[in-house]
Amino acid sequence: MEKAKGGVARRAKVVALANQKGGVGKSTTAINLAASLAALGRRVLVVDADPQGNTSSGLGCQPGTGEGVHHLYHCLVEEVTAAAAIVEVAEMNGKLFVLPSRIDLIGVEVELMAASKRERYLDNLLEPVRGEFDFVFIDCPPSLGLLTINALTAADSVIIPMQCEYFALEGLSQLVRTIRLVKNSYNNRLAIEGLLLTMFDGRNRLTHQVASEVESHFKGQSYRTVIPRNVRLSEAPSHGKPVILYDRRSSGAVSYVQLAREFLARHRQQQKQPVG
Ligand code: ADP
Ligand code: MG
Repeated sequence: MEKAKGGVARRAKVVALANQKGGVGKSTTAINLAASLAALGRRVLVVDADPQGNTSSGLGCQPGTGEGVHHLYHCLVEEVTAAAAIVEVAEMNGKLFVLPSRIDLIGVEVELMAASKRERYLDNLLEPVRGEFDFVFIDCPPSLGLLTINALTAADSVIIPMQCEYFALEGLSQLVRTIRLVKNSYNNRLAIEGLLLTMFDGRNRLTHQVASEVESHFKGQSYRTVIPRNVRLSEAPSHGKPVILYDRRSSGAVSYVQLAREFLARHRQQQKQPVG
């Protein structure tokens, strides 16, 4: 097995990006936090668990339908290995990889409905490749269905991206309940990694109000880094690139690199603390 820094056997920390609301920045964060960590020298895998496939295409990977083309659906339903479906992202020095999806993934919810231990398929799938990465990010669909449950069962922790808007906190208690349920039933190591405010507009008073509400509900759990609203972040996916490759001086790129540094600092802190 490859050795990470310090001579300890590498074993990826698995982080799910979850929020059942759509359009809050889950996929944007999966792509750009992962790419920023890869640019900082970490080996990172992004698993696209959303049938919409935005994260796959945003990383320049749109799996086709031909013979021998594998994506997450085949891994979960047809016993294809993760290694057979993982693709390297271009121009990232061999540090960033994606396990892509396409719309077929939607069938998993039905096909696994009657399977035993159906919540554990993604966890089992990723187990053989956890030794090859420092971090694995799982981008969840905008629902609390079986794919999100699989992501939470496979994860060590969850990042909850939140858009700074009026109803930001609505639905959050349901998400937190789901996280607690998965923790109690399937995965007792699951923790909240952090809350991330996205599409932040400092000129808007509402934005500050949401930020302070989030901080009072989730003391110390929200990231100090906030992601500003930045048009470069919304343009980059149509070029199939993370924003650091598209416009590394943009405020979006700078803030995701800052988030990656804060993420690493928290990670080091967690490793110092005894588990339990
Ligand atoms: P989700 O995955 O939660 O549905 P996305 O990451 O796809 O959300 O973001 C929704 C839309 O908002 C996308 O079009 C994306 O490009 C855009 N977007 C996300 N974050 C930002 C940002 N910080 N600034 C500007 N546009 C953003
Ligand atoms: Mg998404």
